[in-house]
Amino acid sequence: MSLKVPSLDLLSHELSKLPGIGAKTAYRLALSILKKKEADIEALRSALKAIKENVKLCRDCFSYTENLEVCSFCEDTERAQSPLLCVVKSPSDINKIESSGVFKGLYHVLHGTISPLDGVGPQDLKISELLNRVKLLRDKGLSEVVIALDANIDGDTTTLYLKELLEEENIKVSRLAHGVPLGSYIDFVDQRTVGRALENRIKI
Ligand SMILES: [Zn+2]
Repeated sequence: MSLKVPSLDLLSHELSKLPGIGAKTAYRLALSILKKKEADIEALRSALKAIKENVKLCRDCFSYTENLEVCSFCEDTERAQSPLLCVVKSPSDINKIESSGVFKGLYHVLHGTISPLDGVGPQDLKISELLNRVKLLRDKGLSEVVIALDANIDGDTTTLYLKELLEEENIKVSRLAHGVPLGSYIDFVDQRTVGRALENRIKI
């Protein structure tokens, strides 16, 4: 689908690079952006600019933070003393776990899972950073790492890999209990299920 208008095609092409946006949807979005008032376009332009300029990775947990070195979770003094650290794949997983209301500890974001088929190895993830952090936190009372990765092959491979590394550091390692359906992404599981899976986490 194209009206042979190069600028429309270009915007549509850029939008189609976003996850879940097919060529048709991208074209429809491009057309609707074209119809927007100049003020709305300007707001969109500055939002795009701000997200790249202001959002950074937290120095400690690698979640997102705005204009600060450390995110609000790592800055929370009560959480900083928690004996629990929860390992997740991406920052959006933190939202899911927070909405369950069950977890009050710290987080660590790996930014992916080990996936040999996609060429993602341990060195591509925030795993050495996790080990360094665990060593630091252990001295402050950390006793358990909860691994909350997707219930699929890549999630399981990563969980087992981390378990071996963390056990060498004498840290108890657990993962989410059943309740997270096999093959599912944490992000799409409802908050009660995540809450139950956390409460009934299994030592591995
Ligand atoms: Zn943080």
